[in-house]
Amino acid sequence: MRNHVQAVVIGGGVVGVSVLYHLTKAGWKDVMLIERAELTAGSTWHAAGGMHTVNGDPNVAKLQQYTINLYREIEQISGQSCGVHITGGIMLAGTRERLDWLKMAKARGRYLGMELELISVDEAEQLFPLMDKKHFAGAMYDPIEGHVDPNGVTYAYAKSAQIGGAEIVRQCRVTELHQRTDGSWDVITEQGTVHAEHVVNAGGLWAREVGRMVGIELPILAMEHQYLITDDMPFLAGKKEQLHCIDFEGEIYLRQERGGMLIGTYEKAGVPWSPKETPWDFGQNLLPNDLDRIAPSLEVGFQHFPQLGEAGIKKIVNGPFTFAPDGNPLIGPVRGLSNFWVACGVMAGFSQGGGVGLALSQWMVNGDPGADIWGMDVARYGDWATLAYTNAKVRENYSRRFSIRFPNEELPAARPLRTTPIYERLQAEHAVFGDYCGLEHPLWFAPGAAEAFDEVSFRRSNAHAHVGEECRAVRERAGLLEISNYGKFEITGKGAADWLSRVMTNKVPAIGRMALTPMLNERGKLIGDFTMCRLAEEHFFLIGTWAAETWYRRWFERHAPPAGVTVRPCAMEYVGLALAGPASREILQPLMSEDLSTPAFPFMSFRKVDVGMVPVLMGRVSFTGELGYEMWVSVEYQRSLHALLTEAGRPHGMKPFGGRALNSLRLEKGFGNWAREFRPIYGPYEAGLGRFVNMDKGDFVGREAALAEKTSGGALRLLSFEVDAADADAIGDEPIWHEGAVVGWVTSGGYGHTVGKSLALGYVPAELAQSTGQFEIEIIGERRAARRLDGAAVDAQGTRMRA
Ligand SMILES: Cc1cc2nc3c(=O)[nH]c(=O)nc-3n(C[C@H](O)[C@H](O)[C@H](O)COP(=O)(O)OP(=O)(O)OC[C@H]3O[C@@H](n4cnc5c(N)ncnc54)[C@H](O)[C@@H]3O)c2cc1C
Repeated sequence: MRNHVQAVVIGGGVVGVSVLYHLTKAGWKDVMLIERAELTAGSTWHAAGGMHTVNGDPNVAKLQQYTINLYREIEQISGQSCGVHITGGIMLAGTRERLDWLKMAKARGRYLGMELELISVDEAEQLFPLMDKKHFAGAMYDPIEGHVDPNGVTYAYAKSAQIGGAEIVRQCRVTELHQRTDGSWDVITEQGTVHAEHVVNAGGLWAREVGRMVGIELPILAMEHQYLITDDMPFLAGKKEQLHCIDFEGEIYLRQERGGMLIGTYEKAGVPWSPKETPWDFGQNLLPNDLDRIAPSLEVGFQHFPQLGEAGIKKIVNGPFTFAPDGNPLIGPVRGLSNFWVACGVMAGFSQGGGVGLALSQWMVNGDPGADIWGMDVARYGDWATLAYTNAKVRENYSRRFSIRFPNEELPAARPLRTTPIYERLQAEHAVFGDYCGLEHPLWFAPGAAEAFDEVSFRRSNAHAHVGEECRAVRERAGLLEISNYGKFEITGKGAADWLSRVMTNKVPAIGRMALTPMLNERGKLIGDFTMCRLAEEHFFLIGTWAAETWYRRWFERHAPPAGVTVRPCAMEYVGLALAGPASREILQPLMSEDLSTPAFPFMSFRKVDVGMVPVLMGRVSFTGELGYEMWVSVEYQRSLHALLTEAGRPHGMKPFGGRALNSLRLEKGFGNWAREFRPIYGPYEAGLGRFVNMDKGDFVGREAALAEKTSGGALRLLSFEVDAADADAIGDEPIWHEGAVVGWVTSGGYGHTVGKSLALGYVPAELAQSTGQFEIEIIGERRAARRLDGAAVDAQGTRMRA
């Protein structure tokens, strides 16, 4: 065993060996994998080996495509068969909603280059004769689905990595990790100490325990999972291998296993395994079967696939594997630790393992994952994702593995967890809440308690009319919105302005002012979208996306400010309320001694003021595009401020409004949102944020690449569309057609209530930005005519917010 290497990968499951192989492929030859027992000894050895490309997140879907295409490559390098069976797959829909979901999945697949096909039940039966078609309404066919041999895949990666220079050490547990002052690691093992510049935690079932060696608690939990294999079925004899099949209503998956069928299910009453600690002596063991637990799914399965009910059971497998709260992997560098990486929580190792290895190795070798992997980034969770939170969410996610998540559906587990002081007040106003980083925030307000719920749907829902009223109140009079769910940082100390100027693209604002600013990575791509607010010479507030707080902290650690400058996350120290609408100044002015007239308190002002007796940090800005004020207060003042504004707004017809109305109002203005319009796959000029990139102020991170984009104009362009929709609006990820070809994708959409139009934002190739040709947007399988808007649908000149 070498005693010094560039990187140690802990764990020889399918994920660890993939990371190892990709590191060698990316040029790091001096790497080592350390495995406690034998390769595959965690959850990998008993996996069913199924693989597919469909995923709710298009960026994850792309990495799944990559994984499946990789198997030929590692077979060729290693000479080891992966046992790849590309049978094709079929997804069966039993309800109209599920058919809608399949139509949307097919549409999304179009711009990912996937050849998904919607087929009738008769066609489905031809392809998959085990089904009883009377239970189904339609189906989708995917030619790129199948299964692999988990053992073969793991050894093919491992051998390919060894050929590339990697060392693999078996029967050697890593027991401790100690960081040296230079950031490198002493990896203490049963066979001695290895000094490594980088450590990767690919510990799978033990990833939590490996995390605890460095003082972190990773939000992952193992669940028991059962599948069974039938005796050989005469029905299958002499036929070509059956397709993979997912029966959503039965919540089961099927595939052929030699002469029988393999049937697995994600049952409703899923059971966590070793919820607090994974025993180190857990070997290649299976867990005791519990057929009663999966009996309800099996009963449906036997009705839907009658031949299965007649087959005997040859084998039952019950094994544990790990999940993050949202079911996507956790990968990337861990904030607060240098050179410590994770690749864990991978619940579909044979669809995702290759993509995970690729992204992580790129990140380690080049400093950037090379793709938009936000949906898998370990930094999407913060300290709020405790063990118990993770337990509740993982169980919910497991039980819903084959359930539809509607765009207006908020899931109930682990709620309410975080609430602000006005939570009960908003409840009394019949707010329907959403969950954001564990915080309850109002989505919309119902007229009475009995109506305060969402009827989940892909189409316009019961909330539609009420959200419309909220939007009209904001445009015509005034509305009050809780905005506590924004991320905030306070930046202080000599050099703060210079540091901000270096990490942000815009010029830092003058004292008492605020400025919008993108943040770029070195490749000139968008990694943040902030409001910089300046209170004093070296005292700033940064307001941005709360969900990305850990991500930003990690970035700020990498681009650390000079000594003396403090960057302090303070999201929940300042809760907020936003007042917006033409009457907002009239409502506020009597409560304040400051002159709120535009000459005295112009658009984009930011000051410490008193509203009544409440000390407030106030910005004159509104994401609604109206005259408006965002107010940030210490937690203990929020109730007073809310009471004061509610009372003052009453004579002006002010209404509370929620996140849904805000979304509609910002779409009318064509304002982009982080994680939708603004993501690391777009540049600032493509996203229409070029005016917030200041090339004259001196150097900043990403300047060179941004300049190149400015010169070339970039490859893409963000456009606003008005869509001839029927009862459903775009929600995001729909394909954009132009003159009969798919040219782009929608990033967000919805109904513009005050303009009475269905609206969408999306990216198309830059050369089509001025096209007068026919655009269409595919909504639930129907191509709807879409007209490009030259400016915002409301107040294109932006005079209202400056009034
Ligand atoms: C019943 C069942 C069916 C499944 N079916 C499928 C399927 O059809 N398709 C699919 O894609 N996925 C399936 N999976 C999931 C799949 O098994 C996982 O996605 C995959 O195994 C995760 O691999 P991993 O490398 O992250 O973890 P693991 O396989 O758990 O590997 C982690 C490795 O790290 C080692 N290790 C941990 N700590 C240390 C340490 N301190 N020192 C040294 N070594 C250490 C362990 O010994 C282990 O070998 C299934 C899982 C189960 C249980």
